[in-house]
This record gives sequence, structure tokens and C-alpha cells, in this order.
Amino acid sequence: MRASLPGNLRDVLPRAELDVEAALEKVRPICEDVRHRGAAAVRELTARFDGVEIASARVPAEALERALAELDPRVRAALEESIRRARLVHRDQRRADVTTEVVPGGTVTERWVPVDRVGLYVPGGRAVYPSSVVMNVVPAQEAGVGSLAVTSPAQKEFGGLPHPTIMAACALLGVDEVYAAGGAQAVAMFAYGTEECPAATMVTGPGNIWVAAAKRLLKGRIGIDSEAGPTEIAILADETADPVHVAADLISQAEHDTIAAAVLVTTSAELADAVEKELPGQVSATRHTERITEALSGRQSGIVLVGSIDDGLKVVDAYAAEHLEIHTADAAAVAARVRNAGAIFVGAYAPVSLGDYLAGSNHVLPTGGCACHSSGLSVQSFLRGIHVVDYSREALAGAAAHVSVLADAEDLPAHGAAIRARFDWRVPTETA
Ligand code: NAD
Repeated sequence: MRASLPGNLRDVLPRAELDVEAALEKVRPICEDVRHRGAAAVRELTARFDGVEIASARVPAEALERALAELDPRVRAALEESIRRARLVHRDQRRADVTTEVVPGGTVTERWVPVDRVGLYVPGGRAVYPSSVVMNVVPAQEAGVGSLAVTSPAQKEFGGLPHPTIMAACALLGVDEVYAAGGAQAVAMFAYGTEECPAATMVTGPGNIWVAAAKRLLKGRIGIDSEAGPTEIAILADETADPVHVAADLISQAEHDTIAAAVLVTTSAELADAVEKELPGQVSATRHTERITEALSGRQSGIVLVGSIDDGLKVVDAYAAEHLEIHTADAAAVAARVRNAGAIFVGAYAPVSLGDYLAGSNHVLPTGGCACHSSGLSVQSFLRGIHVVDYSREALAGAAAHVSVLADAEDLPAHGAAIRARFDWRVPTETA
């Protein structure tokens, strides 16, 4: 699909028809079932949706140890490097408590406190994502979360356990509480708790529409990160871009899902033509040709021709892609002008694949346009800022008159009275 720049950009840009609202009605009975019948419901839903009977969703410690012992050493080395780089970046995200002296004797401290217990969802339907173990666990650990558990769908070919590489990644990261459960039932398991799995305060991690719908449904009962659904790549490119790189990067994200989105926004009709020419050869040479072809030909993928980089920036800001690559002259300057994206990849040597595994950045990112208001997973996702208010008698006296006036203006006189009660029922006149 090619389009010129119209007025209401957000509505006309290609996007998957992902009806999370409709999915809500389907996941509601699943979540209710888990709420009322606990572990038995999780087991039955696993049999129904994952096609495998399990005796328990809890993965035994020996299975984790065995998976790590049997892990291909090259995969182990790559995971270890991925963890090392992610730790470097996420460690720098830690926040210090900040105390502000508002008036002499009156301070407000913002104290950052990790959530008590998180359930981390690692997808495992179409593809398995040991990299998502790293991306979930590292920020939670760096935030100081005391109790964390990972869940990933039970795999029929591995006897109802999660994929061995996922179990090995958990073991590498020191996570010993792992469950074989996927989809909405896994989110509900963490939200309500079962005989096997204590309830969590928060659930994070990417997943398919069922996972996204369950997170939306149970939000409030549990905290969630952003809705990280089917993946998206947008590429903003000019005539300097290499069509081989552009095509390869579009394909790399289309590989995730038949409804993954791959969008090229370009000022160059020649580049658009060259990419269109390049795609079929590269697609037919990859393993998941069918899935990629469906993703690239879906309504969510396409090429948008724009008249200038300024227009291109308007388009990518309106689209608010999960991943945005910039392949233009002076890519860093163009990237600095982007306002809406889950993560930005600058220039020819920072492809999204690097960010998926090894850049050190997090790959759990907002999709579906949510990047205009939400961030990707980070240490911050697992922290709450609590204001600690500490005022002396004198400092309170200095605020009393204003508090009384504002309380009266809101017709909440008991608020003013709560201050006066401390000063013999008078509004103190002294200032702190
Ligand atoms: P998944 O683990 O999210 O979902 C698999 C589960 O879905 C199964 O365990 C099953 O229980 C449930 N399910 C399947 N069919 C169902 C049905 N008809 N009704 C109810 N439940 C059903 O794995 P997936 O399907 O491979 O999806 C992973 C998604 O995560 C992809 O879309 C991928 O693009 C996305 N992803 C996103 C990010 C991000 O940061 N945004 C990162 C990695 C992956």
C-alpha cells in the first residue's frame, strides 16, 4: 500500500485489526475459571489451548537444572552476554530517593519502593523467547523486586514443560520459581493466585492477543506494564538507505507473527521500488516464508511515500511504532526529533534484531500506538514512588492559613479543622 500524506494520519496509517475488546469477552470466562477453580482450571485450560496434559504447572527445580546443564554452550554464551549488557543499562536506571526541603522543617521525600511480587510472562506459542526471560527478569531484579516468578506456555513436545531454553535462561538468571502456563490463564494465575502459585502484585511481559486482553481485564487487581502485543517495525528512510538492509529488517520483525507490522516510510520512490524488488528474494530464502508473507501482505504492513523528512517524522510520530529505525543522512539528528516510538534504532548498524537480543536495551515495548503514552519495560516499571511528608509544628503553622482557605473553598471544612485541632482550634498566624 502506498499513500500520500493526508490530514488524519493516525486513522489512515496501516495497523493490524487487533480487537482486544472482542478478545476480552473470550478471556473473561477463562480468568473467572482460574479465579474459582485455581490450579485445576490452569491444568484444564492448558490441555485445551496448548494440547498437553500436565500434572502441575509448577516446574520442578531439577527440570531447570537439567535444562541449564543441557543448554548448547553457544546459546549459553550468547545469553550470558545478553544478560551482561542488559544489566549494564538497567542498573543505570535505578533511582535514588530525593528529599526536597519545601520550607524549613518541611520536607517531601520521594522514596522508590519495588513491588513485592511480580509474575513475568514469557511468550511461547508461535516462537519461544528466551530473550524475553532476560528482558523481564533483569529490570525486575535490578529494581530489587523480592519475589519473582516466570511463566511460559507448556510445550507438548517437551512433555508439558516450558521450552528448555526458557527454563535454562531462568536458571542462568537465578529464577527458581517457574510455571508452565500460557495465555490468559497464566495471567489469571498470577492475578488471583492458585494452590500452586501465590498471587502477584504485578504481571509484565509481551504476549499475543489473549495475554494482552487478560492483562487489560485484570488491570487494577494487578499492576501491568504496557500492552506489548504483536510486534511492529517502522523504518524512516531516505535515498541514502540500503534497500537490502531495509528489506532484511522489515522481514526480521514480520517473522514474529502473521499480524506483525512492517512499515516503510520514505521520501524516496526509488528506495521504495528497490525494497519492493528486494523483498521476495529475501522472503523466500528465510525459514518462515509463509508467516512473513502473510505479515507483509496484511493491511498492517506497507510503504508510505512522503514528500520530506519533516512529513516522514509526522507520519512516524502519528504511528508511534514499537520499533523505529532511522536510515537517513544524519540519522542521529533525525532520531533526536522523533517524539513517539517504543525504541529508536539509529543508522545502518543498529537494526532492531540487535535490540531484540543484545543492545542492552529492553525489547518489551509498547505496541498498537501505545508508544505515544507508554514506555517499554524498565527498572522504573517495577518501582513505586512514595511521597514521605515530614513537617514540624512550625512548618505546619506556616501552611495552616492556606490549607484552611483551600479546604473551605472545596467545602471540606473538616480538613481545616484537622489543622486547627493542633493549634488549640485556631488558625495559627505565625509563619514558619
Ligand atoms: P503467547 O505465549 O503470547 O501465547 C500462547 C498462548 O495463547 C497459549 O499458551 C494458549 O494458552 C493461548 N491461546 C492460544 N490460542 C488461544 C485461543 N484461541 N483462546 C485463548 N487462548 C489461546 O505466544 P504467541 O502466540 O507466540 O505470541 C507471542 C506474541 O508476543 C507475538 O505476537 C509477538 O510479536 C509478541 N512479542 C511482543 C514483544 C513486545 O515487546 N511487544 C516481544 C516479544 C514477543
